[in-house]
Amino acid sequence: MTATIQPHVRLRSLWLEAQKVSTVGGLTLKPALPLSFASVSVLSNYVSRGGAGWIVKYGWDAELIINMTWVLPNGEILKTGPAGIPNVGNVGIQYGPGPDIAGMFINADGNFGICTEMTIKLFPEHQYEKVFLAPSFAEEEQGLEDVINAMYELAQEDICGLTYKTHHGPMSITLGGLTDSDPVTLLSATQKHSLIIIIQGLTQEELEFKEKIVTEITQKNNLSLVEPEAMGMGDMASPMPFKAGFEVKGNYVAGYLGAFQFLAGIVKLDKIPQINKEYNKLVARFWKDPVEKAMSGCSIQGPSPFARCGTYELDWWWDHGDPEAVKRATEMVRKTGELLLKHGVPLFRNMHGLGEFYLPQWGIYYEILNNLKVIMDPESIMNPDIIPIGKDYVSENSKE
Ligand SMILES: Cc1cc2nc3c(=O)[nH]c(=O)nc-3n(C[C@H](O)[C@H](O)[C@H](O)COP(=O)(O)OP(=O)(O)OC[C@H]3O[C@@H](n4cnc5c(N)ncnc54)[C@H](O)[C@@H]3O)c2cc1C
Repeated sequence: MTATIQPHVRLRSLWLEAQKVSTVGGLTLKPALPLSFASVSVLSNYVSRGGAGWIVKYGWDAELIINMTWVLPNGEILKTGPAGIPNVGNVGIQYGPGPDIAGMFINADGNFGICTEMTIKLFPEHQYEKVFLAPSFAEEEQGLEDVINAMYELAQEDICGLTYKTHHGPMSITLGGLTDSDPVTLLSATQKHSLIIIIQGLTQEELEFKEKIVTEITQKNNLSLVEPEAMGMGDMASPMPFKAGFEVKGNYVAGYLGAFQFLAGIVKLDKIPQINKEYNKLVARFWKDPVEKAMSGCSIQGPSPFARCGTYELDWWWDHGDPEAVKRATEMVRKTGELLLKHGVPLFRNMHGLGEFYLPQWGIYYEILNNLKVIMDPESIMNPDIIPIGKDYVSENSKE
């Protein structure tokens, strides 16, 4: 129940290969993959601490890594995980020799070496499955609370393979892609808060049993429960894209006006409504006027099993060819990062240059990180100037 991959292996290819292998009871296997393009490198997603669409069932990517092989800046080769102990191999656990130094390579933007191979966990595929959309038709703030409550209750029941809260941006782009129309014209026809749910079962009976619970929980929280065909999203009726990555042609996330960008942090679900209220003020002030046309909003990926916490994500689309849009976006991303940190939401990644003001706040942790960089990579040859560590990083905020 593991797969060993090298950097070139893409989401869809790994999924297809895993499908060729079966485990106990003849069940085929699948990897836990992000809700990202089919062409994305699995290894780069895992090494940059990604999150699978299936967090609610399996947890975050980094928790699913078993072994890694790293080429260090001095050319030495390091094996982490159980394979770090001679003669152990691919035992399905994360830990190798202790203390465990594997963690310092994750979300490190390649600062400590290059990962050339990784072994990750695979999971059994269930034959019966169904996708639902559960939109809220309530007012903005109430709608968010309803969706969050439904996510929390579903996670407590431990019956879903995937839960994902989306918003009117991706929804209108999805519909726009399917109907060949401008997403902006569809904004008023899409809901600000919708839940995507996938349930799976070994038998039809199991699936029906789970569907009954999903129906009860969504109804209780004032969400409608519809099958995607009913919303004109027939292509989404199959869970395939959610499992193997979205395709570029006819995809659901699309590249609208340049590119899609996100910023995310991990937080307890009940904190999200307050943070989101403040985020909406940022949108109104710094992102787009009128706000109704801003395709920005919050997504919640996961949450983690039993809803201990979830990934709160803010999305934007902007035209990278338009200098004004880039300026505005840079400002917006910075302010959103500050908002998340103000509320104690650790950032998912140090992306968009946010590491520059984020890392120096960590005190002794930051000191050790800096020292490690100098020891591991004295010539600063590994991805310099990406995050503010090492002896020659240049920034007014970073360490001298
Ligand atoms: C529409 C859309 C939806 C998305 N949904 C999700 C989602 O659901 N979950 C999720 O987790 N992400 C999601 N993403 C993000 C996307 O999948 C990640 O950006 C991707 O997985 C990382 O690939 P990349 O090509 O951006 O990596 P790169 O930019 O090439 O790499 C990312 C980082 O990892 C480092 N790195 C890469 N390869 C190695 C290596 N071999 N050794 C050492 N360091 C390395 C790089 O230095 C870099 O800092 C989404 C993106 C889009 C556009």
